[in-house]
Amino acid sequence: MDNTKMYKSLGIDLDAHDTLMGALPELFKECFLNKEQDLKGLSYFYSVVADIHGARVKELIEHKNKGPVIGSFCIYVPEEIILAACGQLVGLCAGADFWVPYGEQIVPKNLCPLIKAGIGAKYSRTCPYFQVVDLLIGENTCDGKKKAWEIFSDMVEMYVMDMPNKKSELGLKLWQEEVKNLCNFLEKKFSKSISFDSLLDAIQKVNAKRSALNRLYETRKNSPTPISGIDALLVTQIGFYDDIERYTKMVNALAQECEEKVLSNFKNNGRKRILVTGSPMVVPNWKIHHVIETSGADVVVEENCTGTRYFKDNVSIENASSKGDLLKNISDRYINNINCACFSPNRGREEDILKLCKDYKCDGIVYVSLSFCTTYMVEAERIRKVAKENSIPMMTVESDYSFSDLGQLRTRIEAFIENL
Ligand code: SF4
Ligand code: SF4
Repeated sequence: MDNTKMYKSLGIDLDAHDTLMGALPELFKECFLNKEQDLKGLSYFYSVVADIHGARVKELIEHKNKGPVIGSFCIYVPEEIILAACGQLVGLCAGADFWVPYGEQIVPKNLCPLIKAGIGAKYSRTCPYFQVVDLLIGENTCDGKKKAWEIFSDMVEMYVMDMPNKKSELGLKLWQEEVKNLCNFLEKKFSKSISFDSLLDAIQKVNAKRSALNRLYETRKNSPTPISGIDALLVTQIGFYDDIERYTKMVNALAQECEEKVLSNFKNNGRKRILVTGSPMVVPNWKIHHVIETSGADVVVEENCTGTRYFKDNVSIENASSKGDLLKNISDRYINNINCACFSPNRGREEDILKLCKDYKCDGIVYVSLSFCTTYMVEAERIRKVAKENSIPMMTVESDYSFSDLGQLRTRIEAFIENL
């Protein structure tokens, strides 16, 4: 389908966009189509990526007749409140190396590729998702992002949520206020009143999405896992921008297929089982999974924001009788259950990793930090100690979006897997 007219209406730089889209099919083929895969339910997710700048962008443009399209960069931004305000939330974290040089024209090279690519995607006018959003919601998590909001605010309307650094009583209070403030801001900005019923409905939709992902991940606890790690990663990545109800249905269908596959007693492949943890991995950053899974091991779970942190634990609706109760439950779910390295201390993440290693019967941990992602790079030391105390082998990897380190990564990862 020719999307030129749509791209022109969004102000896309057509030539640069063609260059960007030229690289994606090859990468997709290499990572997804050149391997054995027998799950029919994956074809939906493959087709979404194959048409990544097409049908969904069109849907979002159409949605603007009903409500706003809002972009975010972090899983702390509560999707429930955006949905209740008739909005559509789109995850704007950028994972393509193509955008990094554009970002480096504006910000220093020694920033993480996620931030540079995000700024580059907007600045180069080559990402229709950046072009379609009415508002971007940032959050004060890591230092790089805090300062990136100032750059973005020159290019797009921004709203920034403040974040505590510590999960203390005071920190929880600050976050509860910020969640309320976001709700008030969206109501005013888009002249849309958020009622108890609309919020409850939105919570149920997001809870259903999380439950579907949980159901899919549960099947990965089996040996062998019925779905490859790279396919599971792709499914989670698509959750950040797909239509929530259709996505939930498709994830449930895929989970059911995986459950049936497990019951069919397919043979154990004897491959080592890996937990991947660290910085988020956003589309099309499939590098580490691809290397691990073509080096003789399976990634069976991801403790990161494009893995379990995204969907673990639902917002409680028990005993909530007012909008204020629901907002409090939303704020509790986000602050208590997402253990991001931006918090100090962050002991919850150590516990999460140990529990996941046990539940998913992992043979080893691959700890992945994006280059210059200081919080995750520093936190690796604590996780290494905890892993050692529990006799779980762990390797650390620092990488960006380029493919220049592919050979070196493969050598190190193969050696790690061989020694498990
Ligand atoms: S790693 Fe932290 S800052 Fe980044 S998306 Fe996750 S929660 Fe947000
Ligand atoms: S990957 Fe690390 S440095 Fe980059 S935005 Fe996320 S937390 Fe910040």
